[in-house]
Amino acid sequence: MAPKQIKYKCCKNCKHIYKDKNQCPLCKSSQSSNIWRGEIFVFDQTKSQIASKLGYNDNGRFALKVK
Ligand SMILES: [Zn+2]
Repeated sequence: MAPKQIKYKCCKNCKHIYKDKNQCPLCKSSQSSNIWRGEIFVFDQTKSQIASKLGYNDNGRFALKVK
C-alpha cells in the first residue's frame, strides 16, 4: 500500500496554506494556487511582529508570495 500523499494549496486571498480542500478554512475563499514562494509559521499572531506586518490574522502556515 502506497502512503497517501497530502497535497497542499495556498489561498490567493489570505495566503494561508492548507491541506487539499475545496475552500480556504480561514477566509472561505475557493481561489487557490499550487504555486507559492516562501513560507512562515505563525504560532501566536498576537505576539508575532511578522504576522501583524504582513497582515496575517490567524495562526498557521502562510506563504509569502502566491502566484
Ligand atoms: Zn484564505
